[in-house]
Amino acid sequence: MQHTSYIEISKSAYTKNINFLRSEVGQKTEISIVVKGNAYGHGIENIVPVAEENGIRHFSTFSADEALRVYSCSLQNSQIMIMGMLDNLDLEEILLKGISFFVFEFDRLEATIQTAKKLGLKAKIHVEVETGFHRTGFEWEDKEWLAQMLKENEAFLELKGMCTHYAGAESISNYVRVRKQIKEYKKFRKWFSDNGVKFEKYHTACSAATLSYPETIMDMVRIGIASYGLWPTMETYMYRFQSLPENNKNPLKRLISWKSSVMNTKAVHMGDFIGYGSSYMAPRDMTIALVPIGYGHGYSRLLSNQGKVLIHGKMVSVVGTVTMNSIAVDVTDLESVQKGDEVVLVGFQKENEITVASFGESTQQVNYELLTRLPQDIPRRIVE
Ligand SMILES: *Cc1c(COP(=O)(O)O)cnc(C)c1O
Repeated sequence: MQHTSYIEISKSAYTKNINFLRSEVGQKTEISIVVKGNAYGHGIENIVPVAEENGIRHFSTFSADEALRVYSCSLQNSQIMIMGMLDNLDLEEILLKGISFFVFEFDRLEATIQTAKKLGLKAKIHVEVETGFHRTGFEWEDKEWLAQMLKENEAFLELKGMCTHYAGAESISNYVRVRKQIKEYKKFRKWFSDNGVKFEKYHTACSAATLSYPETIMDMVRIGIASYGLWPTMETYMYRFQSLPENNKNPLKRLISWKSSVMNTKAVHMGDFIGYGSSYMAPRDMTIALVPIGYGHGYSRLLSNQGKVLIHGKMVSVVGTVTMNSIAVDVTDLESVQKGDEVVLVGFQKENEITVASFGESTQQVNYELLTRLPQDIPRRIVE
């Protein structure tokens, strides 16, 4: 059965991104690839083996269900870390599989110790501390009680890491807040160390922190968006532009291309309205092409009369509203567009390109959002 669109994932682009990131963090720092949000829309099962081919042996997920997917498709027995949601009811399975996880509150810590005792093994935990993100993490006031619990239960705990997350390292407007977080983290680190609590790895940096605040690169970095070939924001790229080598000013390569095809074409007369309502009236006699992609496939309604796609290597405009399953594009100026012709929604066609970032300009969507809204049932295929 033919699908309405396809996503291609470039292996060679992935290798370039990992090589660049390795050169940024150095050989001693482990790269954990963040695969939450179905690997930022690329598909966990597609990304994990490709990452492993590139030497990656550590993956981070938001939730336990994602961690189990990584567990099932890992071919290299890679380490897995849950950074967010893990119900106490699932602890037993997670512990038995050797999956590590963030602990940011006493309830989870107590349940973890109980479960580890019952199973007779050590739980692999990463203690998350509050430095200013104000979502999860142990408070400074918790530290004595926390340290005591960690020490008393060392037979049941493997202290894999001490971590935190920055509140907006991708924008200079958060500079003061991020600097303060770095200081707070160091304070926690020193306090635990002075009080005899040692962690295997200290890790704080996401993509933006890694690229903009080198001192946040510690024993491990947790990289999501950059591994998929996108800068966290335009600002992060601009900040780094000068310091990138002359022969590699564009070191991150987008992995995905998103392609569909023309479903049918139609002649429209001047003055006709196209699609629902009256948002677009044909200013001349026109030919439109229908493309079977709509907001139900992650193509935002905000792209009504705004979006651009590539057909025959040329940029053409969405006319009228984006509907659940289709868009109409203006192909009046192209020669003989046929049913079945390739339509590129993201990616290259001949010498033109539609980037993921360009969606942000018309919809305020961040790179992360477009990617993670791509439905899981669009077929993805790995290409060179
Ligand atoms: C999502 C996430 C990351 C990765 O962020 P990117 O900006 O995609 O690199 C790192 N750490 C935590 C805790 C996260 O939730």
